[in-house]
Formats: sequence, C-alpha cells, structure tokens
Amino acid sequence: MSRTVYVNGEYLPEAEATVSIFDRGFLMADGVYEVTSVLGGKLLDFDGHFARLERSLRELDMACPVTKDELLAIHRELVAQNGIDEGMVYLQVTRGNPGDRDFSFPDPATTPSTLVLFTQSKPGLADNPTAKTGIKVISIEDIRWGRRDIKTVQLLYPSMGKMMAKKAGCDDAWMVEDGFVTEGTSNNAYIVKGGRIITRNLGTDILHGITRAAVLRMAQEAQMEIEERPFTVAEAQAADEAFFTSASAFVLPVVEIDGAAVGTGAPGPVAARLREIYLDESRKTAV
Ligand code: PLP
Repeated sequence: MSRTVYVNGEYLPEAEATVSIFDRGFLMADGVYEVTSVLGGKLLDFDGHFARLERSLRELDMACPVTKDELLAIHRELVAQNGIDEGMVYLQVTRGNPGDRDFSFPDPATTPSTLVLFTQSKPGLADNPTAKTGIKVISIEDIRWGRRDIKTVQLLYPSMGKMMAKKAGCDDAWMVEDGFVTEGTSNNAYIVKGGRIITRNLGTDILHGITRAAVLRMAQEAQMEIEERPFTVAEAQAADEAFFTSASAFVLPVVEIDGAAVGTGAPGPVAARLREIYLDESRKTAV
C-alpha cells in the first residue's frame, strides 16, 4: 500500500514526493532528523524529540521551518492518513536546495530548508520477541566526527557498523573510543553491576538519547542507582547485565559482547523491568 508522505507543506503519495538533486541533505549530508515512535496510534515523547530537533538545528545554524504545534499536527495527520497503530514517524530537515553545489551555506532568506516526514508501520513493535532473547554485539572503533550530540543524517559509519556486526553473526556494534564504549550504532549503551545502572555521561561524543533521558528518570523514580560514566568493553563483558535504549527499540537486553556472554548469557531483570516501566509510562503520556 502506498504511503502518504509530507514534503514542504504538501501531503503526497510516496511515489510523487520528490526532493531536488541539489538539496544539501543529498549532496552534503547537511541535515538533521528525528524518529518518534507510535504506540496505539499516539506519539511517544513528542516534546523530547522536538526539543532535540530545535537543539540540533540551532547547533548547525539552521532555522526550524515549522512551529511545534505545526509539526505535531503533521505527525498526527500522517499517522491518521496511514493508519499507523504501531510504528515510527521519520522527520528530516535539510538546509534546502540552493540550485547548485557549493560548500558555503546558502542564505536562508532565499533558500528555505527542506522538511520531509514519512511513517513506518511496525506492527508488534512493543511486543518485540528480541526483548526475551536479547541481542549480540561486537565492538568497533568509533571513527565518527566529533559532534555526535547533533542528530545529523551522516549515518554512513553507523550503517557500516551494522554491516560489520551482521558479518560477524551479531545484531549491532558498540563503538569504542580511547578504550571506552561511546554508544551503539543507533542507540545508547548501558551495563548493570551490583544493581547499579552505568551509562556514559552526556557530552559531544554521544547522542543525547530521548529514551535515555526518560529511562534514567524512570529508573531514578524507581529508586534504582545510576552512575553516568564511561565503561570499557571488558567491564561490560564482566557486568551482570547489558542493554541499550532507543526510540524505536525502547529497552533491549544485550547478552553477548565480542563473543563473551554477559552475566548468565540471558536477558537480566533490570533491563526487563526498565522496558516494562518505560512502555507503561510512555503509553500513558503519549499524544
Ligand atoms: N545514539 C545514536 C547514535 C542514535 O542514532 C540513537 C537513535 O537513533 C540513539 C543513540 C538513541 O536516541 P533516542 O533514544 O533518542 O532514539
């Protein structure tokens, strides 16, 4: 079934939606994105995703082409038109189409940004069987640029990381810089040791996950102990549990790192509990 997508003010069948070959998102990866999950036809943590979008745009000196209310209305319209019960809304803003290729940023007064949104239907998103089995990861060197806190569309290395993991018979890669895990290819990484949840502190070296913020807040409310600091692969392999968070996977256990079983080699209770709390709470506050 053809989706209805959104491009610069218009709702169109996906086959009719186009962006210029001179768009800076296409030529320069000059753009940012967000992915918001949908459960029961409602958006999870829209406020958090909008706040991060505004921050990413600000850091790159780009204007936000729509207001928060307008963006929420577009999300809802696409969810309704495409009958999304469980899935995601993908949003991308680029520095637009200046009509030619040039390294200099175009004048925003004459080159408006490009705004594209589309939905992805994922029935069973919340009931993911992987939550019961866990995933296996490999570690790879983190060779991405230094502003990973900006959610840009430069996803070539994370894609390569996923392919390296696949080739090794695993599901994802955790990236390592100066001996410490930064994050997964599209998620934030955690370990649990002696009941404490350990995850890398925020900085320019990781994306400030919206799910990370929510899960840590909920963990704190549930009186769980949290330590925000970097950890090594060896420490993760010797941990009681490991898991990751992202907007589309929520909380998922990691049971193997570079061939070594984590804890018992089966998903642990902390990840299971956090997944349950996160899903319950997010459903309640979904818009
Ligand atoms: N880290 C990276 C590199 C990501 O690409 C993502 C999500 O795409 C995350 C972390 C998790 O962020 P969020 O919880 O906002 O989805």
